[in-house]
Amino acid sequence: MTGKSSEGMTIAERVAAVRERMADAAAKAGRPVEEITLVAVTKTRSADEVRAVLEAGVGHIGENRVQELLEKAPYLVDMPHQTHLIGHLQRNKAKYLPGQIDMLQSLSSTGTLAALEKAWAGRPRPLDVLVEVNIGDETSKSGIDAAEAVALCEACDQSPAVNLRGLMAIPPFVEGEKVRPYFEQMYRLFVDIQAKKMDNNTVNVLSMGMSSDFEYAIMEGATMIRVGTELFGPRQYI
Ligand SMILES: *Cc1c(COP(=O)(O)O)cnc(C)c1O
Repeated sequence: MTGKSSEGMTIAERVAAVRERMADAAAKAGRPVEEITLVAVTKTRSADEVRAVLEAGVGHIGENRVQELLEKAPYLVDMPHQTHLIGHLQRNKAKYLPGQIDMLQSLSSTGTLAALEKAWAGRPRPLDVLVEVNIGDETSKSGIDAAEAVALCEACDQSPAVNLRGLMAIPPFVEGEKVRPYFEQMYRLFVDIQAKKMDNNTVNVLSMGMSSDFEYAIMEGATMIRVGTELFGPRQYI
């Protein structure tokens, strides 16, 4: 591990530091920081760590895997928060999600949409979804290209099971400012989709930016950032 300045800080201190950086980036962009939602990415973190981040006032958590999400949920029921699924959803897992998540950020196929429609049949409220765009056209990443994303958004608009809220992206890992053009492309696509006034005009979420690049994402128009490492420290995969 390199001697990062955030080492040795408590989760509450890390949250405060991230909030401060969000405010600085928003100020630079001339945007109110209130329009940007911080999602704490909790994959690999213990329920106690998740509780600490909720106690520090972060109201949204993001998990990558359905099973991990279901395992931690019972330990968090007494703390009000919203749960996002941000990792790839296998179609056969959709049935576990009703009542467990507030938003799916990683919708990337009509097949998964069909699985959600089956899982949400007869439910009183549709599921909020973001369509995941593979903005760098990388074969290693999930998500679909921009043209396919528009078509999938239109399919969401037609579906009673889901409520289209916007777009999500993980851009290629490039150095520093080189990520900005990808965020800029995402913002343009977001504005195009917003202009179509789908699902009664509920499209207002652009989820992009992680620990290494959230300030650039905010400068390019993100309304939601997903941060793990900067809130909890480096992940240990075992
Ligand atoms: C892990 C993950 C993040 C957070 O990554 P950090 O670099 O730890 O901030 C954000 N989004 C998705 C989809 C992830 O899988």
